[in-house]
Amino acid sequence: MADMIRAAVQTGPRQIEIREFPRPVIGPDDGGLLRIEACGICGSDVEQYKGNLGRQWLPMVPGHEPLGIIEEASESACARWGVRPGDRVAVEILIPCRSCDLCLAGRYMSCRNRVGSHGGSQPASRGLGLWGGFAEYIHLHPNSILHKVRGDIPAEVAVMFNPLGAGVRWACHLGGVGLGDTVLILGAGQRGLAAVLASRVAGAGTIIVTGLSRDAGKLALAREFGADVVIDVEAEDTVSRVAEITGGSGADVVLELTPMATQPIRDALAAVRWGGRVVLAGLKGGQPAELSTDLIINKALTVVGAFSVDSRAYAEAIRLIETGRFPLARMHTHTFELSDVSRAIETLAGEVPGEDAVHVAIVPGPSEPRGAALTGLRLSPKPTPGATKERRGKEAP
Ligand SMILES: [Zn+2]
Ligand SMILES: [Zn+2]
Repeated sequence: MADMIRAAVQTGPRQIEIREFPRPVIGPDDGGLLRIEACGICGSDVEQYKGNLGRQWLPMVPGHEPLGIIEEASESACARWGVRPGDRVAVEILIPCRSCDLCLAGRYMSCRNRVGSHGGSQPASRGLGLWGGFAEYIHLHPNSILHKVRGDIPAEVAVMFNPLGAGVRWACHLGGVGLGDTVLILGAGQRGLAAVLASRVAGAGTIIVTGLSRDAGKLALAREFGADVVIDVEAEDTVSRVAEITGGSGADVVLELTPMATQPIRDALAAVRWGGRVVLAGLKGGQPAELSTDLIINKALTVVGAFSVDSRAYAEAIRLIETGRFPLARMHTHTFELSDVSRAIETLAGEVPGEDAVHVAIVPGPSEPRGAALTGLRLSPKPTPGATKERRGKEAP
């Protein structure tokens, strides 16, 4: 490989440029070097891009959903991770200390001695700067958390470990979705769709998904992923519709995944059954939400805050992807090259007219074989409009 590594560097709000970094030399106590195959984009990339995340360490390399191949790694790191060069791995965003009391208790997401993060708030000036996934390579810290992923799955599908991990954690681990449960999912973005799939796998009875009128395509996809009922909240009242479907008793589990809007929180509390669970995962930009705590008390509700995704959920999501049983490729709508990171983020944000994005990924390497693999038979049973869009994305200037 070349001596210099290309990476997309954010220098300010809506400002991303390609810069070159010297290739890190991997020493015996170092981590390793990961060649990026694909890096997913989510709503927090959009906020980071716009400069809405409060304090940001700029310049920095964004991209916190990386999937790649271990190019090289120290022997100690390989032993620690259980990998060898050539293995495909998914990388978690957080790099914890792995030894504080929180880490030892499995709450490493709130590690007090965090080393840093891959693509989160991490200055490019720290270390070698190659932390984020919108790059040809990232420099893995020995404490980075990796998950092996089978190599024969199209990269754009394998990289869905991130949204699918959220679906698994929020629906199954935090929501406790079980056999026959009625699940209400507020929001039909990639995480809402992933929650549909996870709920279906967990044995949910009735799955109800809400979206806006402009989410019609996503709601159709929700049905393909196993939703029984979809609700256009601009045409129907969610709470009364759920009451109708459940004979007045309400949903067993409600996941609130909508960004910014606060009405869905009140809808969640109103639509859940007595003794049910509400999982809150839709951030509201710091604004307070008005709600009745009496309702929580009188309905004996469990309300859970869903911070991020953990290792268990990522691992289970990867196993689900590896089964090849789910039409995940249907969710992938756009692939972009490294030089098009801004346009990729704007596409996911819905700022590009005519583009209806669900899952968007940056693929920094050569693009020829993957498009074919994506429309291949096993993971994508039908030829998809997404595949067409994917090609369009690549041709974009
Ligand atoms: Zn993300
Ligand atoms: Zn720790």
